[in-house]
Amino acid sequence: MQLRSTSQPLNCSVCNDEITDIGYFAATVSKDEYKPNPQDAVCNACGFNQIGMMGCAPELADVTDFDSDSDSGSDQTLEQTLLHVRMTDNGISVISDKQ
Ligand SMILES: [Zn+2]
Repeated sequence: MQLRSTSQPLNCSVCNDEITDIGYFAATVSKDEYKPNPQDAVCNACGFNQIGMMGCAPELADVTDFDSDSDSGSDQTLEQTLLHVRMTDNGISVISDKQ
């Protein structure tokens, strides 16, 4: 599964810092690639300390619940996953995902 590249830097939706090493973000699963949702990105520190239980990785719902305009709820038919990613010189590499 390939990750569609994002040209913009990823910023944490909790602390607003740019994610430079390891982070999490939600992505929409499409045919054979992930379409990232950069607005739902969370840095490693916030993922563990602010969202997830102490010492546990966040769940997808923990990240996507930060959407303030998710009341409509009718257009969320696409499958989503939470990607655990590492920033590299060549872009973003996916460490793991969970749905
Ligand atoms: Zn953060």
